[in-house]
Amino acid sequence: MARYHIICSNLSATACAPGGYQHVSHVGYQNAYGGAIVVTREQMVEILREPGNSAYTTGGGETAEVKVVRCDKCSKPFLRTEPDDTKADNLRKRTAGSSLRCGQTPRWRRFVAAVA
Ligand SMILES: [Zn+2]
Repeated sequence: MARYHIICSNLSATACAPGGYQHVSHVGYQNAYGGAIVVTREQMVEILREPGNSAYTTGGGETAEVKVVRCDKCSKPFLRTEPDDTKADNLRKRTAGSSLRCGQTPRWRRFVAAVA
């Protein structure tokens, strides 16, 4: 049971279906050391399906909850902020002071390797 602060995200390069969306492909949540633990969208969906787990984004002084919703184009679960379309909705938007692209290499692997 945990609460995750998502601090970075990447979008998939292609739309999920004809006329569909570029879904978030990866998100990174903050670890105890201020870095990002990068997971796939599917992994984050699994995390959020565990009872008691939740996630949020911040931006522009606002906080938005991250929810799992089903896409009406590809019928796969994806991540969306609630409320949508705020300054804190930085899963998809790159507003000033909000989250950034995640590194393509999962940083937690490097971190684990460094302390092992
Ligand atoms: Zn979709």
